[in-house]
Amino acid sequence: MSTEKFEFKTEVNQLLELVIHSLYSHREIFLRELISNASDALDKLRFASLQNKDLLGADSVLKIKLFRDEKAGTLTITDNGIGMTREELVNNLGTIARSGTKEFVEQLKKAKDGPELIGQFGVGFYSAFMVADKVTVHSCTASGAAACWISAGQGSFELSASAKAARGTEIILQLKKDAKEYLDEYTLRQLIKKYSDYVDYPIFMDIEREEIPKDQTGQPIEKAKPEKKISEEQLNSRKALWTKNKAEITPEEYNDFYKHIGHSYDTPLEIIHYTAEGASEFKALLYIPEHAPFDLFTKESALGLNLYIKRVFIMHDCKKLIPEYLRFLKGVVDSSDLPLNVSREILQEDAQLEKIKKNITKKVLSVLKNLKEKDPEKYLKFYQEFGAALKEGLHYDYENKDALADLLLFDTSAAAAGQYRSLADYVQHMPKDQKDIYYLISETRAQALASPHLGALKAKNYEVLFLHDVIDEFVLPQLYEYKGKKLQAIDKAGLELGDKQASADKIKAAAEKFGGILTPLKSALSAQVQDVRFSTRLTDSACCLTADENALSAQMQKMFKAMGQAVPEQKKILELNPDHPLVQLLPQLAQKSPEKLPIYAKMLYGQAVIAEGGKLDDPLEFSRQLNELLLKAVEV
Ligand code: ADP
Repeated sequence: MSTEKFEFKTEVNQLLELVIHSLYSHREIFLRELISNASDALDKLRFASLQNKDLLGADSVLKIKLFRDEKAGTLTITDNGIGMTREELVNNLGTIARSGTKEFVEQLKKAKDGPELIGQFGVGFYSAFMVADKVTVHSCTASGAAACWISAGQGSFELSASAKAARGTEIILQLKKDAKEYLDEYTLRQLIKKYSDYVDYPIFMDIEREEIPKDQTGQPIEKAKPEKKISEEQLNSRKALWTKNKAEITPEEYNDFYKHIGHSYDTPLEIIHYTAEGASEFKALLYIPEHAPFDLFTKESALGLNLYIKRVFIMHDCKKLIPEYLRFLKGVVDSSDLPLNVSREILQEDAQLEKIKKNITKKVLSVLKNLKEKDPEKYLKFYQEFGAALKEGLHYDYENKDALADLLLFDTSAAAAGQYRSLADYVQHMPKDQKDIYYLISETRAQALASPHLGALKAKNYEVLFLHDVIDEFVLPQLYEYKGKKLQAIDKAGLELGDKQASADKIKAAAEKFGGILTPLKSALSAQVQDVRFSTRLTDSACCLTADENALSAQMQKMFKAMGQAVPEQKKILELNPDHPLVQLLPQLAQKSPEKLPIYAKMLYGQAVIAEGGKLDDPLEFSRQLNELLLKAVEV
């Protein structure tokens, strides 16, 4: 195979630049990243060999080994894991497979906390360029396909043939002048202890020692000259942290393990370490991260926990262990009930896994409940990062609906900006005459506060929950009620506040007084609305739009439009406030200059659209008419 040159994809170059610069002060983590890749490659091989024993061949002791060459100035990290073919080298080390990377890299460049955020991304392999001028990778798969990848991390890499015949991967770092400390035995020992002690495979290094020669009985020979001896030593303890007693684990150990399994740099927000007994027996060590990963809401978001069976690693990201709405959890589950010879197919069905999932879900929800009660500030931090994911549970997890409802936090009309209330707070503060729980979906708090729908509720001193997450529209109606109180959107038609009779009387009176304008208004707006009515829900505004109870909200329609999807036409209802002076003047206008009524109708409709954060179909025409009216007002 001849040597072939490839250019890195733009995002790789950007990422490289970012990693090298923003992570410079943490550059020692390159070792952890490369060892963790090696350990993943060994995991993959071990898993594949559960079904195909031949994969292991004679080389069945899975291990990682470091080699130092002081003369050449190289540090080499080897594993006898799954290996990579030529194509895999190109794909894995020349591109970033995940989409959305570009935007993320852009975001990182701007962010002050770039180094922390970058950890969520798992920059992994590229961190090698923080300490190396040149990186050479020889890799060989179990079937003997080998290739060599070389790069100086500056825009391109080369692929050529490799003579490597043993299964696995060998990464040779030509260390930078100022990175020679990574050839030092003590430094490497310390780094492995710090970052990779829990790695499930032995990490070896050749250690040179001077020893006094021994005689046949094993006694040191007197006065003999010390001899240089090289022996292979294991640098990591491989002790599975989750099997240790909680009291024996230091916070640093917990945090280091989190960094190891989560490939992250932040510290966990909360640690959940427990042993389940009874219907299913397992140990779990779970972490709630401090920050949400950038791809929490994309399909590619990594979901799942690492699954072990009796301390034997089975797989990464086992999806069956947690519901999707808890996908932010990281950690391990070690089961003592599952059969060791599991294959992916069995994992798909196993009822035992379902039991574990149930148990973990209940546990995590109860930990969150506790956190909310005992440390509201920390809980708020959690909620701001992961609340939107948690809400998905209202839709998918009927069994835990009540527990989830209690974990929700809301911006509300009664809370100060930046303060949040729970449903329990809300219900506790409800005035005696209030029957239902009211909510309004809007993009921002400012938009909610300006909503014409709010007036009538304010007048009655009813609090309104403001919802700003896209998902709210789907999940809130599903919650349906809380503690027997129905949840009602305040911008849907048919909202009844308090005294039905008084409201009906007022509308009747309005119809008698100015009812004549409804028909001409309706015909002027026949393309836009399905009806024009008087209503008692408004206080300060002249009019507002309401939707049928089953209609999509303005927010939702906007979202569908943004996604390029056709939105079925849903005409709204224009509701007029009979107490508003403008509405009261309309009959006069209809009498004196009926030709102007359609223009006023359009203006009223237009402002109602704007008030709910919607988009006008013809903004130019609207502003033209508005200008005309303004001019007339001046002329008068
Ligand atoms: P990540 O580990 O987060 O996926 P990396 O950039 O560290 O990102 O690695 C990219 C990919 O290269 C890995 O997902 C893996 O498929 C492959 N890879 C890296 N190192 C090894 C190795 N030692 N053995 C086999 N494959 C490897």
